Amino acid sequence: MTGAGPGRRPSPTFAGLWRELERLGRDPQTGGYRRFSWTPADAACRAWFTGQAEQRGLAVETDNNGNLWAWWGPKRPGAVATGSHLDSVPDGGAFDGPLGVVSALAAVDLLKDKTFHPERSVVLAAFTEEEGARFGVPCLGSRLLTGAVDPDAARVLTDDAGTTLADAMVAAGQDPGYLGPRDDLLDGIGAFVELHVEQGRALAPQGAALGLAEAIWPHGRWRFDFGGRADHAGTARLADRRDPMLPYAGTALAARRAAEQNGAVATFGKVIVEPNGTNAVPSAVRAWLDARAPDEATVADTFNAVRSAAESFCEQHGVTLSVRQESFTPLVRFDAALRDRIAGTLAAAGFSAPVLPTAAGHDAGFLAARVPTAMLFVRNPTGISHSPAEHADLADCEAGVRALAAVLEDLAGPE
Ligand SMILES: [Zn+2]
Repeated sequence: MTGAGPGRRPSPTFAGLWRELERLGRDPQTGGYRRFSWTPADAACRAWFTGQAEQRGLAVETDNNGNLWAWWGPKRPGAVATGSHLDSVPDGGAFDGPLGVVSALAAVDLLKDKTFHPERSVVLAAFTEEEGARFGVPCLGSRLLTGAVDPDAARVLTDDAGTTLADAMVAAGQDPGYLGPRDDLLDGIGAFVELHVEQGRALAPQGAALGLAEAIWPHGRWRFDFGGRADHAGTARLADRRDPMLPYAGTALAARRAAEQNGAVATFGKVIVEPNGTNAVPSAVRAWLDARAPDEATVADTFNAVRSAAESFCEQHGVTLSVRQESFTPLVRFDAALRDRIAGTLAAAGFSAPVLPTAAGHDAGFLAARVPTAMLFVRNPTGISHSPAEHADLADCEAGVRALAAVLEDLAGPE
């Protein structure tokens, strides 16, 4: 059994929409995406989404935090929201984020084809800076929307070139003066369903095209600054050096060991070396730790082990250390009643969708604090994500569209 469900007629628009969007923001060298928020690539994706939504008669607005909302039906309480994000990590894959946005548009087409008229409005969302790839805080748009980050702190976040979020928004024609929570918008949403490509490989061994989320692991990001002294790679005696690369290297290995011991994951995926010269002992190494685990205490234990390793390596090498938390996202358990209702809808439509935990953060995790929220995963046959090799089969994507349409029809249809 493939788990792709019945009614294998391809959805009329998914593949066509996908072909259009996949051209935007792709690096021709790596084949990966560089859709960072408030850049021209991001603007192209936003314009594309807005155009598609307007072609379907949806009313599009950009909220005060830069999130896009496309309304099918009037703005009134009890709306059913669906969507995801359009931004990417550096050299990200095509599916992480855009799959949920494109599937939402295609699901609207399926519902319009069968002349479905939503009793509760359906609203398609595209959240801004979900990956935190430019300003360091993941899910920034949904954090701002739900009040999970202070707007003043957000405005002064900087990218690697030193540009603040506020300046980047101004350059993109958006006023950063109004950042902040939107209770009025959230109070009007009765449910949020985010469809997302699976990150990891749990569905393929089960032969299932689709899955439902149970929970999101807690997740922290920390910045480690190792400060040494620049010197000549040839003439400086080893004993005289204060080389920050060495404690960094030890710390990266310690993170792996701590993760293995704790049943967690811990990654140094971003490193900035100064002056970054082949023949220079570095003066500074800045590195970011990303740690996740099934519970918050295990994330804390893992981080503490990494920090104490960093401290002792720095002492050995005469290097200074400062460590700062950039974000922490607590454990999220999705709404059980909504998940059960969706499971029933999917079963009635012929889909089997196992329930999975996930170690990836999502906007749905922030919406869940305010609105009954669920997530649908589409099978990722290799499990690879945040990479140009990220993939989902067209048949599975189309199954996802049909499933999402069935869910929206149920949630937005007659009681
Ligand atoms: Zn994502």
